Amino acid sequence: MAQPNPKPNPNPKPNRKRDPRPVRTDEPPTLRSFEPATGRVLGTVRANTPADVRAAVERARRAAPGWAAVGPAGRARAMREVRFRIHGRLDELIEVISRENGKPPAEALTHDVLPTVLGIKYMEWLAPRALRAERVGRLIAPAFGFSSRIDYRPFGVVGCISPWNYPLMLSFLGIIPALMAGNAIVLKPSEFTPGVGEEIREVLEALPEGVAQVVLGGGDVGAALVDAPCDKICFVGSGATGRKVAEAAAKHLTPTVMELGGQDAAIVCADADLDVASSGVLWGAFLNAGQACCAIERAYVVESIADQFEAHLLEKLARVRTEGEGFEIGPITVARQKEVVERHVRDAVAKGARVLAGETDGARAPKGSLWHSPVVLEGRSEDMALFREETFGPVLPIVRVRDEEEAVRRANEDGFNLTASVWTRDRTNGRAIASRVVAGTVTINDHAATAGAPWGLWGGVGESGYGRLYGELGLKEFTVPVHVAENILPRVKRLWWYPYDDATVRTLRAVTDVIAAPTWGEKVAAARVAARSALSALRSKI
Ligand code: NAD
Repeated sequence: MAQPNPKPNPNPKPNRKRDPRPVRTDEPPTLRSFEPATGRVLGTVRANTPADVRAAVERARRAAPGWAAVGPAGRARAMREVRFRIHGRLDELIEVISRENGKPPAEALTHDVLPTVLGIKYMEWLAPRALRAERVGRLIAPAFGFSSRIDYRPFGVVGCISPWNYPLMLSFLGIIPALMAGNAIVLKPSEFTPGVGEEIREVLEALPEGVAQVVLGGGDVGAALVDAPCDKICFVGSGATGRKVAEAAAKHLTPTVMELGGQDAAIVCADADLDVASSGVLWGAFLNAGQACCAIERAYVVESIADQFEAHLLEKLARVRTEGEGFEIGPITVARQKEVVERHVRDAVAKGARVLAGETDGARAPKGSLWHSPVVLEGRSEDMALFREETFGPVLPIVRVRDEEEAVRRANEDGFNLTASVWTRDRTNGRAIASRVVAGTVTINDHAATAGAPWGLWGGVGESGYGRLYGELGLKEFTVPVHVAENILPRVKRLWWYPYDDATVRTLRAVTDVIAAPTWGEKVAAARVAARSALSALRSKI
């Protein structure tokens, strides 16, 4: 069983209260498994050291060639075993995710476990098809004496670093495509969800020795993984840490995928179905207590329907269970995140935001727990922290706008979107607006759900990151595309070899004219020159 050890820590440290950061002076280092709903420490989990990380990367390096040689179909069969193991441990997984995250078990199932198994299943189907060598330049390559194909080869060892908010799904987001592409992986999950980290380790044991390892620890362990070095890094986390990781990776020229934060915008058009839009925006803002990179952090609502929209949304929020048995919006997971949320709300209220729902003094959290009531605000000023930084908590600012034009402008200017949404009854209009919103994903009449859609893609623009996960793009993110070009006339020397005599230059000049000349007359004349001079150029080759 990979449950966090329920025994008390034999070396208790001075009580840091609600912040389960690694206890670095313990021997061996440990991580606390913490329950934000109650403020209880559930147990401790053995952490790894930077030296362990280097050893894990070495083991992965030894295992990688064998795993690559298995081929995509064999790897798909092996990943199916991982999926079966997850299924076999469904209840344990839901329990530990729900406890360490403070999310309702229903969210642990639908937001973490379900997208993970769907992602594996989809990739089992996709990878053997998408990783086939691809013939390219079928017409043009032979004209230059080549047959060309692109091979998709693995990098070797991929280091994956994941955050705490969807600890299972966001770990698998990187490791599924990395493994299916033929790489060995070393995963460093968040120090705030060590029990989930242990569960992941357990299910990955279905794979051959050394192919998929989990190292547990805080930022120092993550930094050691980047510095090992690996052959590719897949980082999911905050922009601030992402920058550090990208800098450290650059030292080794290690390519990176950066899946960072978001301050997603929802645009509620004048013709939106207000019942659907208010339900969808409510969920999109408060899922996982707003601790989703793709949670709505700004709702731009067209003035003419804003009163009705707000009335619907507030009435529905009042029906969502926000505390006690069967809660649907849980506490904040991490103490430092609660501080950010409180600061943003205080700042917005001080700068004139109107509180439509929720308590804004942070007084709701009993006995070391991290509860924070869901807050709906209205109003905006340029200097509000809400619009300048990611909040990552249960706060929904509503901004009334004159029309959809203003909504698009503000969606693109007030903050940065990992994803965004447009709410309208008119699908043509919805697509037109969506095409103008700067984001990695734009959804029409839904929000955030594509985080569990493995057929699409997942990735940001600008501050929300770069690189793609999910789908064929996500799979190929973990491959090195190699052009294998074959000379189809191996007994004939090439025109572009030595010497560069007059016939050679004349022929290649004529080829250039055929490609670039604007008129058919010039092209035909050039083709004749090329045909006449090519033979004598070839005869002169040394
Ligand atoms: P974080 O950046 O603090 O930590 C993420 C991971 O990086 C953790 O495992 C942490 O231990 C590790 N880490 C810390 N310092 C490191 C270093 N110097 N080198 C290497 N690794 C290091 O983020 P968090 O608080 O765990 O997660 C919340 C953030 O993640 C939010 O900004 C959220 O928007 C973002 N996020 C993005 C996505 C996405 O898909 N784009 C998904 C979920 C969360």
